[in-house]
Amino acid sequence: QAKAAGRNTVSFYDPQIQAEISQRAELETELRQAIDRNELELFYQLQFDHRSQPIGAEALLRWRHSEKGLVSPAQFIPLAEETGLIVPIGNWVLKTACEQLCRWQGNPLTAHLQLAVNVSARQFRQPDFVDEVESTLAQSTVPPGKLKIELTESTVLDYVEETISKMAQLREHGVKFSMDDFGTGYSSLQYLKRLPLDQIKIDQSFVRDIDTDNDDAMIIKTIIAMGHALSLDVIAEGVETEQQRTILEAYGCQHYQGYLFARPLPLTECEQLLQAGPKPVH
Ligand code: C2E
Ligand code: MG
Ligand code: MG
Ligand code: MG
Repeated sequence: QAKAAGRNTVSFYDPQIQAEISQRAELETELRQAIDRNELELFYQLQFDHRSQPIGAEALLRWRHSEKGLVSPAQFIPLAEETGLIVPIGNWVLKTACEQLCRWQGNPLTAHLQLAVNVSARQFRQPDFVDEVESTLAQSTVPPGKLKIELTESTVLDYVEETISKMAQLREHGVKFSMDDFGTGYSSLQYLKRLPLDQIKIDQSFVRDIDTDNDDAMIIKTIIAMGHALSLDVIAEGVETEQQRTILEAYGCQHYQGYLFARPLPLTECEQLLQAGPKPVH
């Protein structure tokens, strides 16, 4: 009986698992080559102030796969983290973002924009991460205060001292820091007190139901009040509707990112949007 059940449930030659393993291996090989083949691309999602003026953008990674088309980061960042490929990929993201920031300096339409990049825990914890950013900045003419690094609470977890030290070194070069997905990790308040942050980014899971779920609304109201009391900039992500924006504004939120304002766009489309000016609200 037990043997029969075992036979049914445990199989090392399960064709589905085999298929998944080989797909993963294939994806890993392809991802390894993606940088050299110029298949990685940054999309830019603009961020806005309460008057719907663009204040910056977040760089969001895409992979233009020859057969699969545009692959979203959710489908390859976890693999990149597991395999360590996130380190060269993350360095490419940083370099590309800095080059973009330099180009934006030359145009009055874009010169004021900040650019935020996402940095994975594994990338941030590399012993030479600070050197890597410093040399990237040295190779370009990014003005201080324009490059922003987004970390998540999981990056900080168990490495508070190391994180504080790295942040402090990079802040001397004018790098700004934002806590991404704020409110979804552990010990938010402790980190908030200790880390030299510039911004907190309210996670989209709280924003989603802000107009129907009173708990989410009160959490957001509290995050905004707390952030401002601690002199932190507060930005809401995942803002999709006018109702959400109105409530956020009533709670004192000053900065917004979400489909209501702009989607993540290829560079040229993002620049076209800036050229056209913000779409009228209301
Ligand atoms: P994230 O940093 O929290 O980025 C926000 C995600 O929300 C993006 O997904 C963005 O496209 C999406 N989003 C923006 N506005 C809205 C909205 O109004 N509604 C909804 N439903 N979603 C919205 P995306 O581009 O698929 O990126 C997913 C995650 O992948 C990012 O989450 C970030 O954690 C990671 N990621 C993206 N680019 C990079 C990168 O260059 N390096 C690293 N390490 N991670 C990256
Ligand atoms: Mg982010
Ligand atoms: Mg986020
Ligand atoms: Mg996220």
